[in-house]
Amino acid sequence: MRELELREHATCLVCGKRIGTSGLQMFWIVRIERHGVKLDAIQRQDHLAGFLGGHAGLARVMGPDEDMTNPLMDPVELTVCETCGTGRQVCVAELAEYATFAREAREKAIQSGEKAEGKSEAEGA
Ligand SMILES: [Zn+2]
Repeated sequence: MRELELREHATCLVCGKRIGTSGLQMFWIVRIERHGVKLDAIQRQDHLAGFLGGHAGLARVMGPDEDMTNPLMDPVELTVCETCGTGRQVCVAELAEYATFAREAREKAIQSGEKAEGKSEAEGA
C-alpha cells in the first residue's frame, strides 16, 4: 500500500480516530457485501443432483452454473482500527452503514472539488 492509499485508510470508520492511536500500528480493511439466497436456483441445482443420483459435483458441471444469490447492495469497504477490530460487539449492518456514509461523503467531496476546479479553469480561461 502506497502513501495515498494509506491516507485514505488513516481514520477508523467505527470510532473516528486515526489508525494507530491505540499504539498498535495495524488496521483492518473490511469489505462488506450483502446477498440474498435464491432458493429457486438452489432447488433446481438440488433436483439436478438428485436426478444424477446425488452427485452434487456432477450436477455442478452439468447444470447451468447460475448465480445462487442476488447482491442486495454495492460492496463497501471500510477501515477499522485494531482496537475496534478486536472488540467483541460488531454489527455488520452498522459497519456497512458507516462505509456507505463515508463513500457518499468522499464522492460529494470529489464532486465539489471537480466543480471548484471546473470553475477556476473557466475563470482562468
Ligand atoms: Zn476504531
